[in-house]
Amino acid sequence: MGTDDTVTDGVTDVPVEQPTTDPDDLGLAPETGWNALYIDGEWVPAGDRDTYPMVDPSTQEQMGETPVGTAADVDTAYEAAAAAQPAWAERTPDDRAGLLEDARNVLESYTEELLLLFARECGGTGLKGGFELDLAQKIAHRSEGLAFEMSGQHKPALVEDKETQVRRNPVGVVGVITPWNFPLYLSMRVVAPALATGNAVVLKPAEDTPLLGGSVIARAFEEAGLPDGLLNVVTGTGETTGDAVASHPTPRVLSFTGSSEVGRTVGQNAVAEFTAPSLELGGNNAHIVTAEADIDWAIDAGVFGSFTHQGQECISINRHIVHESHYDEYVQRLAERAAQLPVGDPKSEDTVVGPVINSDQRDKIEAFVEESVAAGATVVAGGGVDGLFVQPTVLSGVTNEMPTACNEHFGPIAPVIPYEDEAEALAMANDTEYGLSGSVHSTDLSKAKRIAEGLETGMVHINDQPLNDHAHTPFGGVGASGLGRYNNEAILREFTETKWVSVQREPRDYPY
Ligand code: NAD
Repeated sequence: MGTDDTVTDGVTDVPVEQPTTDPDDLGLAPETGWNALYIDGEWVPAGDRDTYPMVDPSTQEQMGETPVGTAADVDTAYEAAAAAQPAWAERTPDDRAGLLEDARNVLESYTEELLLLFARECGGTGLKGGFELDLAQKIAHRSEGLAFEMSGQHKPALVEDKETQVRRNPVGVVGVITPWNFPLYLSMRVVAPALATGNAVVLKPAEDTPLLGGSVIARAFEEAGLPDGLLNVVTGTGETTGDAVASHPTPRVLSFTGSSEVGRTVGQNAVAEFTAPSLELGGNNAHIVTAEADIDWAIDAGVFGSFTHQGQECISINRHIVHESHYDEYVQRLAERAAQLPVGDPKSEDTVVGPVINSDQRDKIEAFVEESVAAGATVVAGGGVDGLFVQPTVLSGVTNEMPTACNEHFGPIAPVIPYEDEAEALAMANDTEYGLSGSVHSTDLSKAKRIAEGLETGMVHINDQPLNDHAHTPFGGVGASGLGRYNNEAILREFTETKWVSVQREPRDYPY
């Protein structure tokens, strides 16, 4: 990659400090070490199971391994969850909320070790690790309140002497499958509300981040004193472990966060067992910069929304759609900003852009850029790759059909597309199967709100960028971006079901 008119050269020889701490030596590691499953309150060593390597993306060196849970392990985990759940649902809201609070405090006490793990397991910078810890704390805190929201209703009776109640009960067992990009938070946003509302959980984290996405959470709840069986973590691959978790008859809800492609299969498998799928999937989010935009503000937001955590977020900016009157200035200034972002060791305080998660992702990102350049785009900044470090890259002359624009590229790549009028901007933004998030910049708020209404997405942010997730507002998308919503009352509805209970107080007059 890279052309003569790039603002900087490619990434070469990114220095990475050698790690000092083995994950098994961290204070929060279980006695077995991390190469174990957590089922029914026990750490079960990998034994003769297959294992999956844990690789530090900065060095591409293996730092450990975790078991590939079998279908039999998943059976045992679901059995334990189903057995433990009824007594948990009977506990008082105070008890359930108190346990969540204790687990949250355990996590907080390990902040330093978790920040190291964010860097080593998923290439997250200190900034990203800090964001994620804060998100995980906030969602757990907010979920504590859900334990007190399990209230039902009294409905007016249509039959004389009948009392009509609608109760709200936990669904029972929730199956959970999560991705690698925000592993701790994306698992916690399901585990915390599921437990708060009286459910039990079987969790399969992503194979690249089994600790932050699963085993670390198990350790926090174990240390907090969660009764055995309520949270089970079965690490492993998607095809083996994930398939068994999604196709099992026990869970009443299957909560999946990941790609739309896998989500389609997982959702079908769940429905075949009459399990309700809750799907949070991919995105192709547009950052629309109108003629009336405050250009400094739009660029600041554009840089943050494109390059935070190497662009590896479902709600990252995937495309910049910029009015022609600002186009040249926007491209030039975005490129200058991208070229100044420190790329390197995520353990270093100064780093803003760390490595991408694995070589498959790196190859996919590189191919999208190369194919876009072959189709006529120009690399204005970045374009270099070293190991798993992909330089923040800005592309001009992009059309909506080019591979960096029409696919979810999931990398530190900013394709910039020009437009002439509002209708064209909206048509391009909506010309995707995804509908997750987006952003619109304009000092004309009526216009910005009109465009926001026209965006076919579950979320949109005016004069900001799409990276927003607040524990009390509904999070989710439409179309290929998923089914259902996270957070607060939305997740309360997902993890509970209503039951109509009527009481006939006097004999009824039947027609025969
Ligand atoms: P992925 O779909 O490849 O994997 C997600 C999870 O599914 C992993 O745990 C994986 O092991 C498992 N899996 C894979 N094949 C499976 C199968 N056949 N059956 C059951 N489970 C299977 O996604 P990824 O690469 O880990 O994550 C990136 C994707 O996640 C992107 O598309 C991103 O947009 C999306 N994402 C969405 C949200 C959201 O809230 N909408 C949040 C974060 C990430």
